[in-house]
Amino acid sequence: MKPYRFYIIIVLLIMTGASYLIIESANNSESFTIQKTTLEKNKTVISDFALVLDSPSIETKEKQVIEKWKNTSLEQSEWGEAVSGVKNRMDTDDKVIALTFDACGGPYGDDYDEELIHFLRSEQIPATLFFNARWIESNQEIFVDLAEDPLFSVQNHGTEHLPLSVTGNTAWGIQGTFSAEDVVEEVMDNQHLMTELTGESPKYFRSGTAHYDNVAVEIVEDLGLTVVNYDVLGDAGATFSASQVEEALLQSTSGSIPLLHMNQPNSGTAEGVMNAIPLLESQGYTFVRLDGQTLIE
Ligand SMILES: [Zn+2]
Repeated sequence: MKPYRFYIIIVLLIMTGASYLIIESANNSESFTIQKTTLEKNKTVISDFALVLDSPSIETKEKQVIEKWKNTSLEQSEWGEAVSGVKNRMDTDDKVIALTFDACGGPYGDDYDEELIHFLRSEQIPATLFFNARWIESNQEIFVDLAEDPLFSVQNHGTEHLPLSVTGNTAWGIQGTFSAEDVVEEVMDNQHLMTELTGESPKYFRSGTAHYDNVAVEIVEDLGLTVVNYDVLGDAGATFSASQVEEALLQSTSGSIPLLHMNQPNSGTAEGVMNAIPLLESQGYTFVRLDGQTLIE
């Protein structure tokens, strides 16, 4: 072989090798790009999935509850305030009272009884506050402030303030929910809102108008909440005068749960409460939050 042919072959071999290396590295970088993209895609999928998991499969639970009650044959046999499963008192012989105040929201219910809350705080009287989503939306800062105060237990008073029915029963002229799905929405939309704002999930539910049918009460229980009404009508929807509120509260006995309102500053509620509490204390009563208590019908 002539020497120049030898060199040509060497050069060709080198060129082939170089091309191979170039092509291979290009392939590698391409496959690296593909892998990276797949990884990014997986990451997106994983984070989407994590979002679903984050709301501890609440949605799944809600769907299961709706499915269960859609197909149930259980008849709606009770309607009103004192329905099976609704808790109205604490199970105790101790002289304790759990004051409850509703914040109903809506066109005539968005106000805040600051004097009442100031009194409870200055006298260190624990209470349970039931919030409707409409009130929270109008008074978000106040809501968060009250929720952060360990004096108060904050609980769920519904989303649209509707009587809780699976057939659209009405109370006080307000059309109730129409189905199991409606019931779940009325309870859980506000439940999610409150949990998001406070980091804690309410344990107790009281509907707008405090009316239920027996199926709706069972649905609320399946959602993990307890329905709580009252045994002392404290201010009759904030229509009582101060002396009527005082008189009503003085009917409390061991384990009573009076129902009052914290959204009507022009009512007799605050004054009635301020007059009644020292009298109840002089009779040996103390005040507790609902949570941690054993509740009975
Ligand atoms: Zn209300």
